[in-house]
Amino acid sequence: MSATIIDGKSVSQEIRSEVKELAGKLKQGSGITPGLAFILVGNNPASEVYVKNKAKACESLGFYSVTEKMPENASQDEVIDKIEEFNGDERVHGILVQMPLPKHMNEYEVIEAIDPSKDVDSLHPFNIGLYSEAKSWKEIMDKRLLLPCTPYGMMILLDKYGIDVEGKKAVVVGRSNLGGKPTAALLLSKNATVTIAHSRTQDLKEVCREADILVAVIGKANFIGKDFIKPGAAVLDVGINRTDAGLVGDVYFEAAKEVAGWITPVPGGVGAMTISMLMMNTYMAATRNAETANSKHEILNSKQIQNSEPHTRKG
Ligand code: NAP
Repeated sequence: MSATIIDGKSVSQEIRSEVKELAGKLKQGSGITPGLAFILVGNNPASEVYVKNKAKACESLGFYSVTEKMPENASQDEVIDKIEEFNGDERVHGILVQMPLPKHMNEYEVIEAIDPSKDVDSLHPFNIGLYSEAKSWKEIMDKRLLLPCTPYGMMILLDKYGIDVEGKKAVVVGRSNLGGKPTAALLLSKNATVTIAHSRTQDLKEVCREADILVAVIGKANFIGKDFIKPGAAVLDVGINRTDAGLVGDVYFEAAKEVAGWITPVPGGVGAMTISMLMMNTYMAATRNAETANSKHEILNSKQIQNSEPHTRKG
């Protein structure tokens, strides 16, 4: 048996077309153009490429974008001042501080300076709290919560490929705040029975072999071999590892695809979804802004009505 290869690239394109259309309608209806601000500190070449690619995606969707480049020796206060400037900038609906930050900064304090309604990476504790406490995926969708982009992309892939999550056993290997933990929370919201495994997990192979859905967010090239995989399981590989042989995931793809039911390749799988979900989040943040603008408008109108009442009576 050979697994169905989950084509993250093509689903990602679908999402982008959808966002482009939605953003066009938003602009037509309310005059609002979704806008995203990037803060890039230092000269990390990988971070520069990531920001460039995200800015390119903005351009292709007709979004407004602005990149603030700051030197490696910028102070944390200077970065926070910039964030506060973008918090108050009406053209900006999303703020993304490219990680990692230089060592002299506290990433948590920097993230906490972002207005949660503009936190399109969904890293602010307020947003983590909102999606973690939601009782279902439906509630998450109905409330249009901002979700961390990579785990959000994974949920879309599961959905697009008709992979059943409800009541299934899911094992997430990795417990980072960016990867494993939010992935587990989203799988839980879809009623999976979730286990989070990590470097101290005993009998990891056996734990993984129980999984109907196995997610690897580890950062170790080809770590998950075919003997970790239950036949027919859906295997989602978040790992991105640079090796002499090129970019590879945490899953040993060639062997795993012979056992799995579905599998994401690296590159072209989960990773391909991340920027599209960032665009989706930015669009969502902009629509909320449109609603705030509308409700402000309603309040103003109702004030005008109240203020005009005496005149009406007098007249
Ligand atoms: P991280 O912060 O280093 O976390 C790695 C996790 O893997 C930790 O929880 C660690 O356990 C666990 N782990 C390490 N060795 C293990 C072992 N031998 N057995 C079981 N668990 C083990 O890394 P991360 O930020 O989550 O990223 C993980 C990978 O995903 C990286 O390759 C990264 O590039 C990739 N990634 C990709 C995207 C994307 O596609 N856009 C986004 C995010 C991350 P402990 O907690 O016990 O140390």
